[in-house]
Amino acid sequence: MDLLPAVPADDPGNFSWWQLDVRATSKVGIKPTLDRKIDADVAIVGGGFTGLWTAIALKERSPKLRIVVLDAYRCGDGASSRNGGNVHGYWGALPTLISFYGADKALEAARLGTLAQKKLRAFATSKPNDVWWVEEGYLRVATSEAQKSKLAAFITVARELGVPDTVRRVGKSDLLSLCNSPKFEEGLFFSEGATVHPARLAAAVREKAIQLGIDIYENTPVISVQQGSPCFVATSQGGVTARDVVLANYTGTMAIPSVGRTTTLFSSFPAMSERNELELERIGYKAARGIADLRMFTHYFRRTRDGRILMGTGSGPIGFGNNHSAAALRRDEPSLERAKIGLRRFFPGMSAVVSTWGFPIEVTSDRLPYFGTAAGTRIHYGSGYSGHGVNATVIAGECLASIVLGEKDQWSNSVFCNRTRVNFPLEPFRYVGGSIIRNAIVKCEDAQDAGLPQPLVARGIAEVPRMIGMRIGMR
Ligand SMILES: Cc1cc2nc3c(=O)[nH]c(=O)nc-3n(C[C@H](O)[C@H](O)[C@H](O)COP(=O)(O)OP(=O)(O)OC[C@H]3O[C@@H](n4cnc5c(N)ncnc54)[C@H](O)[C@@H]3O)c2cc1C
Repeated sequence: MDLLPAVPADDPGNFSWWQLDVRATSKVGIKPTLDRKIDADVAIVGGGFTGLWTAIALKERSPKLRIVVLDAYRCGDGASSRNGGNVHGYWGALPTLISFYGADKALEAARLGTLAQKKLRAFATSKPNDVWWVEEGYLRVATSEAQKSKLAAFITVARELGVPDTVRRVGKSDLLSLCNSPKFEEGLFFSEGATVHPARLAAAVREKAIQLGIDIYENTPVISVQQGSPCFVATSQGGVTARDVVLANYTGTMAIPSVGRTTTLFSSFPAMSERNELELERIGYKAARGIADLRMFTHYFRRTRDGRILMGTGSGPIGFGNNHSAAALRRDEPSLERAKIGLRRFFPGMSAVVSTWGFPIEVTSDRLPYFGTAAGTRIHYGSGYSGHGVNATVIAGECLASIVLGEKDQWSNSVFCNRTRVNFPLEPFRYVGGSIIRNAIVKCEDAQDAGLPQPLVARGIAEVPRMIGMRIGMR
């Protein structure tokens, strides 16, 4: 199986603010390139959160395993260091998950997310880690009448499933005491939710893996994986012979046919504001809590411990097939502008931006990740975090460790490893149709936010996913 070259991660012009901060405040080491052939029990391709948490979970369960992690760049320098740093599981996804899988499986996903959150909390708050972990819940806010109409379903579903404590409705005055934005109308407060400095977390997880005796090779792109007993992982100057291989190469897993059919490429663009603690104090945004609006292509945002606001938008261009290296997925001026407009609209006093960046995200139709094994092989993979991977990559570590070790447990038996996923249309229909629908939804949601009627044609197009039963593009 030939692997896709990694998404270019070494362009300092597209480093995230988080990466620049880590580089400015600490010494960033690099592990050697693999320049010979070696043996291991498990070879892991990709040292982001997925690869590192998997390596750690395997080592914790089976300390004698020889585990090798290979990364094309420096471990953690992919999506794991470029995200918004909002951390929560799946309580906020219950209405969608029920419609796909019913109550039991929806609850199972949310409860496993809570176990992952617990593991992450224990790690993030243990010495000497300082990863800016702040656990103050998570807010969804309605910024238009259309978004307000979505609030009730979350409360009803939580009540019906017997988990009413996971979410409460927040009226305008309570909401404004948590964060006073002129655009917030009403909201939902989810008790599970934290924020983190993602690049510091990635560095800390990498360090933990090294301490556990996991062998890491960096600047080591993997070219192909040959299935066999054992498998062989080929790099340009050497390779690893291993019984099991885990593909933790993020959007690169779309080269596996079953992943490519059931996953599609979007892109996401954050902007980081200048530091302004006085203004944050003035608007009462005191805790570094994560917030998102209720658009289909959400604005997600959070304050940082050092007095900034990160504003991100998930409305970037979509990708063609599995071409995850397309430049438009990392640099798109209209998307960057939408993130800046979001910052100005919601927080007029915080509109000075010091850094912007973009990166692809891989989205499944149910927005759940999937962990599995390529048919007839010992090549395993994790993919499909749908812009929601900080918590879910801890789930990944446990699921993939169970799969590699052949353990039948709550992880390997869960909905994350066992479900039938919906295929997306084939190319070029996926790209052409997806782009048209995306543009229509963005237009409708912009109009709703501005209190204007939705453009008629765009509104009709935006309804297509619902009409054909494709829930990913549903508002
Ligand atoms: C802009 C943005 C905002 C986001 N915001 C949030 C958020 O607020 N909260 C949240 O929970 N999630 C968020 N996410 C999602 C989250 O960042 C990802 O789901 C998560 O980091 C995925 O981790 P990973 O290890 O699978 O991928 P990565 O961190 O990308 O790791 C994959 C690694 O594989 C390596 N690799 C790839 N191909 C090869 C190869 N051929 N050979 C060797 N190595 C290879 C890469 O170099 C990389 O280091 C966001 C994502 C983006 C892009």
